[in-house]
Amino acid sequence: MFINIHTHQKNNYSRQNCWNLINIHETFDETNTLSHYSLGIHPWHIDIPKIEDDLSRLKMACHKSNVLAIGECGLDKICEISYKLQQDVFKQQILWANEIAKPLIIHCVRAHEDVLQMLKDNRNIMPVIFHGFNKKETIAQKIIQSGYYISFGKDLINFELEKTITSIPLDRIFLETDDSDISIEDIYKEFSRIRNIPQPQLILQIQKNLKTVFNTL
Ligand SMILES: [Zn+2]
Repeated sequence: MFINIHTHQKNNYSRQNCWNLINIHETFDETNTLSHYSLGIHPWHIDIPKIEDDLSRLKMACHKSNVLAIGECGLDKICEISYKLQQDVFKQQILWANEIAKPLIIHCVRAHEDVLQMLKDNRNIMPVIFHGFNKKETIAQKIIQSGYYISFGKDLINFELEKTITSIPLDRIFLETDDSDISIEDIYKEFSRIRNIPQPQLILQIQKNLKTVFNTL
């Protein structure tokens, strides 16, 4: 079965050959029992007048058993929202994820050191997946050494990620479509080619990773 660890397509119900984790960043009550979700406040969508309300709505909604992760949340150095505010909102989501024992899905732009430091400072013990990764192997190694996971999506096709991909142990990877129109099957195909492993092996490995992180499937 293909595992799509991060998609924004709300109608992407898990089919027989594909399991999806649907990301919702605002309308937290839009979940239904047919699928699995990650819910979180993305740094781009922090809205000062309603942030306290959004955080409490998030906390309420995350108790559902088919909400499997908190996120995407994190830090983004090229977005216009104050960095200090992003850190405050991210911190609350790290603490909340640990309180309710659910993994985190991370959005991170030019802030990998800060994200890792905040996870450490806030004594995170939950699994963490850095989604949409397209950086060099040095950054990937820091994430792996911290015990965390990396998910690749459409940038597999556009970026030179061969060195990064070959440097990561297979038990630390996930694949995703995010907000792109590319199919998860094509992302698997591209990853298998770059990493030079047969697709059936990749499929089994990511199923195993899903089980390790979410205790599901
Ligand atoms: Zn996303």
